[in-house]
Amino acid sequence: PPVLLQVDDLKKHFPIFGGALNRQVGAVQAVDGVSFEVRRGETLGIVGESGCGKSTTAKLLMHLIEPDAGAISVGGEEVRRGRRGLREMRRRMQMVFQDSYASLNPRLTIEDTIAFGPKVHGVPVKVAKQRARDFLAKVGLDPNSFIRRYPHELSGGQRQRVNIARALALEPDIVILDEAVSALDKSVEAQVLNLLMDLKRDFDLTYLFISHDLNVVHYVSDRVLVMYLGKVVEVGPVEMLYTASQHPYTRALLSAMPAMDPDKRATEPPLAGDPPNPINPPPGCRFHTRCVHAEEVCKLKEPFLTRVAGEGHFSACHMAIEGSGHSQAPQRVAA
Ligand code: SF4
Ligand code: MG
Repeated sequence: PPVLLQVDDLKKHFPIFGGALNRQVGAVQAVDGVSFEVRRGETLGIVGESGCGKSTTAKLLMHLIEPDAGAISVGGEEVRRGRRGLREMRRRMQMVFQDSYASLNPRLTIEDTIAFGPKVHGVPVKVAKQRARDFLAKVGLDPNSFIRRYPHELSGGQRQRVNIARALALEPDIVILDEAVSALDKSVEAQVLNLLMDLKRDFDLTYLFISHDLNVVHYVSDRVLVMYLGKVVEVGPVEMLYTASQHPYTRALLSAMPAMDPDKRATEPPLAGDPPNPINPPPGCRFHTRCVHAEEVCKLKEPFLTRVAGEGHFSACHMAIEGSGHSQAPQRVAA
C-alpha cells in the first residue's frame, strides 16, 4: 500500500524562561527530529513514557501546535500552512483524545457535536444531521435515544464513542488516537478497542495509536515506534519489536509488561527512576543515564536510526549497530 502519512524531521522545542529578567534559559526538546511513514490501512503504535513527545508529535501532526521545523505530507501532498491548508488536512486526518469530556462542548447536543465538523466543511445542514445519526449507529449508539442528549448525560465509554463518531463524520483517511481508551474501565476499553478495529476495516482507515499501554499497542498495531526524550529510538513490525527488540530502552519497557509470555519476554532489567530533564537532555545517546549497556561512546556520540536484523526494523543504539552487521543506513525510516 502507498505511503499515506510522511513525517520528516519534525521538531518542536518549547522555550523555558527564568531568572530575574525572565530571559530564555533553555528549551524543552519535546520533539527533536522525528521522521516516520505510515502506509494506507496500517496501524502504527507509538509508545514511550509520559513526556517522551508522543502527544506533542500528535498535536504537531494536527497543527494544534506549530512545528519549529519539519515537513508533514498526507497522501503525497505537503500540508500547506494557513486556514485552507489546515482545513483540508483536518478533513483527512482527525484525532481522538484521552479525555472524552474535555473534548466535547457541554452545551452542544450529540447531534450538533457530530454534525459540527461536516457543516464547517461545507456539508449541507440536513446531510450533516443525517451523518450524525448514521455515525452514532456505526459506533453502537442508538441515534433515537442519543441524538438529543448532552455530553454530561453519557458515560465515559459512550462519550468516547461520540468522539469517535465525530472524528469519522468528516470521513478522514487517518485517525490519531492519543490514549483514546486509556481512561476507560478495562471492560469498556476492550469494547471500544474492538469497535475501533471494526471501524478501521469498514472505513478503510489508517491509525496512529498512541498509548503507554504496551499490551493494547501489541493488540492493535502492525508496526510500533518507540520514543524517548523527543526522539525515535526504535521502529519495526510489531512482533519483531516485541520479541526481538534491538534497543535497550524498548526492552526495558517490555520487561515491565505484566502479561507478556515469559519465554518471549525481553530480559532487560526494568527501568529505574524517571527520564532525565528534557530541558537539558543528556549528550550522546539520551538514554545513556539509564542504560545498563552504556559505554563511553554512548556519552559522546548520538546514535542514529539504523537498519537492524529484520526487514523494516530500525534501532538507534550503538550496540545494535555493531551487533547487526549492517552498515549505517540513512536516518530516514522506511515502512
Ligand atoms: Fe544504551 Fe549506548 Fe545503546 Fe544508548 S547507544 S541505548 S546508551 S547501549
Ligand atoms: Mg500524552
